[in-house]
Amino acid sequence: MRFDIVTIYPEMLEPFFSSGVLWSAQKKGLIEIHIHDLRAFAPDRGIVDDRPYGGGAGMVMRPEPFFRAVDAITREVGRRPYVILLSAQGKLFRQDMARELARKGELVLLCGRYEGVDERVAETADLELSIGDYVLAGGELPAAVVVEAVARMVPGVVGRYWSAATDSFFCGPRLGYPQYTRPRVFRGMRVPEVLLSGNHERIARFREREAWRKTLENRPDLLGLSIEADP
Ligand code: SAM
Repeated sequence: MRFDIVTIYPEMLEPFFSSGVLWSAQKKGLIEIHIHDLRAFAPDRGIVDDRPYGGGAGMVMRPEPFFRAVDAITREVGRRPYVILLSAQGKLFRQDMARELARKGELVLLCGRYEGVDERVAETADLELSIGDYVLAGGELPAAVVVEAVARMVPGVVGRYWSAATDSFFCGPRLGYPQYTRPRVFRGMRVPEVLLSGNHERIARFREREAWRKTLENRPDLLGLSIEADP
């Protein structure tokens, strides 16, 4: 699977992809991550932004460098990749989307900055994608989030398939179960006895129940119930 990220801050992303599971997936040849400097595609002395038509605060990113970047990547890949614009105005990113996107083969992720990106980029992208209902300063963190979530769905990237299959959201709108490790007692808090019992049926039932309990407690919205506004 190939990822191409277009940003004005390549140096922000490079360290993130140089350790952990994404680094080992690259070493194993399971994924490729290419980071492109948007300014290299700006025809006008590397200028990527301009004032908004209609007035208003801040600067807007010009469409041309993004279009030229996608054209160059398309030539390199040999076919048009699936293009995603990271945007707070996009569809909300979810686990089932990560699984779908992992089937695309090649993803291009376009990162905005300033007041956002000229709307013609959103109109021609395959997907306008938000990672949550809040506004960040740029699309770099969202791009990293999407790459990591999608890469985890590529067979072989996560050590054992089972460790992804028991995660939150893997099987629909349910959180994962709570995990414990040594020591058995820590500051007076005990590991639930059932996990020490060796009885796999009881352990599975306990985990199932706990997963639903956590979902109800922390994410009642997943079960169609209303959520409280306070953290
Ligand atoms: N004016 C824009 C709005 O009202 O939606 C916000 C622009 S934001 C300051 C600059 C860039 O950060 C965006 O173009 C986008 O690439 C990125 N960004 C910010 N929040 C995001 C989110 N929740 N999901 C994805 N990208 C986001």
